[in-house]
Amino acid sequence: MANDKSRAVYGIDLGTTYSCISQVDKYDQAVVLRNFEGDATTPSVVYFESESNMIVGKEAKNMLPVEPEKTVSFIKRQIGNDEAFDKSKNTTPYHCDPVEISALILKKLVQDANDLGDNPEPIKDVVITCPAYFGNKERLQTKQAGISAGLNVLGIINEPTAAAISYGMKIDERRTILVYDLGGGTFDVTIIVVNGGAIKVVATGGDHHLGGVDWDTELAKYVLNTFNTQNGTAYEYDSLSANARYDLLLSAENWKKNLSARQTAKVNFSYEGKSVNFDLPRETFNAITEDRLNETIDATRKIIDIAKDKGYNTIDEIILVGGSSRMPQIKDRVEAEFGLPTRLNDPDECVAKGAAIYAMNEAYAQAVKDWEEGTIDEAPAPLTDGQKRTRIVNVTSKTYGLGLDKDMVGNLIFANSSLPVSRTRSFETVQDGQTGVLLPIYESDFTDEEKDQTVEDRFCNLATEDISVLKITGNHPKGTEIKVTFSIDNEGILSVNATRESDVIDFKLKIAGVKDEEELKKSQDFIANATV
Ligand code: AMP
Repeated sequence: MANDKSRAVYGIDLGTTYSCISQVDKYDQAVVLRNFEGDATTPSVVYFESESNMIVGKEAKNMLPVEPEKTVSFIKRQIGNDEAFDKSKNTTPYHCDPVEISALILKKLVQDANDLGDNPEPIKDVVITCPAYFGNKERLQTKQAGISAGLNVLGIINEPTAAAISYGMKIDERRTILVYDLGGGTFDVTIIVVNGGAIKVVATGGDHHLGGVDWDTELAKYVLNTFNTQNGTAYEYDSLSANARYDLLLSAENWKKNLSARQTAKVNFSYEGKSVNFDLPRETFNAITEDRLNETIDATRKIIDIAKDKGYNTIDEIILVGGSSRMPQIKDRVEAEFGLPTRLNDPDECVAKGAAIYAMNEAYAQAVKDWEEGTIDEAPAPLTDGQKRTRIVNVTSKTYGLGLDKDMVGNLIFANSSLPVSRTRSFETVQDGQTGVLLPIYESDFTDEEKDQTVEDRFCNLATEDISVLKITGNHPKGTEIKVTFSIDNEGILSVNATRESDVIDFKLKIAGVKDEEELKKSQDFIANATV
């Protein structure tokens, strides 16, 4: 049999509310590997029984109303948040940081797939997806979550790109597609162009604190109001105990899901000896959540406008992704609003499946190379037509620049530049014999190509002051030219280097919140010893 190593690769959708792992099977179909509970997706929730015993998934989610202080959900929202990484400040049980908690979720997915699947080797090589808007730090941290879980991360790809791959977007003619992705905790809109196997992200954005849980909250509040009216009470949602609130919220999620399949849902809720019981029509649910829906439509319009500014005037179709896209109100409204056909197909699994197809493509390309170079002695099994090579043209979702003086930033690379990209800018030393240059590196989401800008709150200083000093050796006069080059690879990850004439100046970018080797090893050991 031909070398089939290229098939032992997996795609993982590490989601805000649910996660999922997929593989391309021997029939060349991307399939989801179910978890121990028999489900295709696993809630991204971790319950801490002790420092090294955790429960991940459905059972952990059920613990939210019981022991909320020991249960962590929505951890993806904390990726990139420096405070959440500060172990002295973070409030997660046992001060686990967001990378470690994400790694625990990955460990559960992989462990179940290993135990239940029929793969001869334990899962190792994976592609993990992330939102298109993730910046450098978030991408590195996502990668480190995989490494902490003992995995070999072949790549990080954008969720909408993975969805497009899974939807078989390898059509020969050029099409512009809008991916409307409403998950559990985030809303992303991305416009991509598919052209004969190449997938290019044109514009991306959304609201990273808007998702299915906001629909659940609106519904929970409505039910509590009805409860108050019927029982003559005056409970406020925000002042309910954490346990009662989670309880109501989990019930609301179930009523919401029922309303996706039926016109009415049977609602019943009890609290402190009183209860409420009624049939909730879908129209009422739609009315109480209309503002949230409007927010997604406004965000979608914004991205359409950005794409138009870049010369992409026509959208050919809309694909609906994310579990919350199952709500009938989404399809109805999006079609009515934009007058375009929508596709809703496999919204919870398509991202993981697309990542698996991409992973297989990457591994296959590598195997072909290895075979041609003689490092393996069997040719890889050829890909079938359905899995033909997909080329991804990514863009950076952020703008990157250098701190010039106290409050100016000199931008080198602008958001939406095609990747890989590399830009150089020159600076001059200001003193004779200067031995160093402070090099603050800024990331921002400015889309306007303004070269120099004053620093604003929207800028994130990636490299902390004590670690971003270029050391210049030798005695050079004032005005010596230093060239600084920013490079961003296909995965959207930044590297920085500098030269003085032909000398490369030793500089290693250390990004705050991204683990060094020693820290990473510690996390790996912690995850390896944890039971999930
Ligand atoms: P994702 O992050 O893409 O896995 O989406 C998870 C979100 O989808 C959660 O808020 C779920 O409550 C929601 N969801 C899943 N199934 C349904 C359904 N049938 N109807 C409405 N929302 C759903």
